[in-house]
Amino acid sequence: MFNLILFGPPGSGKGTQSEKLISRYGLKHLSTGDLLRHEISHQTELGREAQNFMDKGQLVPDEVVIGMISSALDENPGAKGFLFDGFPRTQEQAIALDKLLKLKKAPIAVMLALDVSEEELIKRLLKRGETSGRSDDDNEQVIRARINEYRNKTAVVADHYKKFDKVVMVKGEGTIEEIFERLCNEIDKRDK
Ligand code: AMP
Repeated sequence: MFNLILFGPPGSGKGTQSEKLISRYGLKHLSTGDLLRHEISHQTELGREAQNFMDKGQLVPDEVVIGMISSALDENPGAKGFLFDGFPRTQEQAIALDKLLKLKKAPIAVMLALDVSEEELIKRLLKRGETSGRSDDDNEQVIRARINEYRNKTAVVADHYKKFDKVVMVKGEGTIEEIFERLCNEIDKRDK
């Protein structure tokens, strides 16, 4: 089993690169943002609770996203590996993920951290907001709140995995293909 975390601030290209990576490596994509938007579109209780936080650019409570990931792992017993996108986003989530994967005897192999300047992030998110239909992308104030949440709560997750020597920084600017090749190079050094 090969488990990897694609890490980086909002707008760093995690979603775009995840789609390409899962198709090349046959991994199961677990994006907490996508799972939450699915709950919202189906108007579930969990979706309604999450939406209040998402609309403000704030993180959804840990127990909600940890519960979703735990169920998703259980629902995919035969997976070749998982690509975690947008999770873990807090130290508590990272500790919970490590525990869940320990039970499966398949720890995180590597965290690939996309490095993109703040100016470029805001530009990309506003552009995505024109077409994504995501209300949290078309408002600069919400975008800035999301980047602040990343700085205050999520950046520490990289420190957590650095302790285990699992973090690789990857330049997240350039063409989609260039960035994809950089990510693949790192995976190919470690996969299987
Ligand atoms: P994303 O699609 O990853 O940009 O996530 C969109 C929004 O969903 C975030 O701004 C958070 O409000 C929420 N969210 C997604 N993943 C998490 C997570 N792991 N922990 C807390 N909130 C999350």
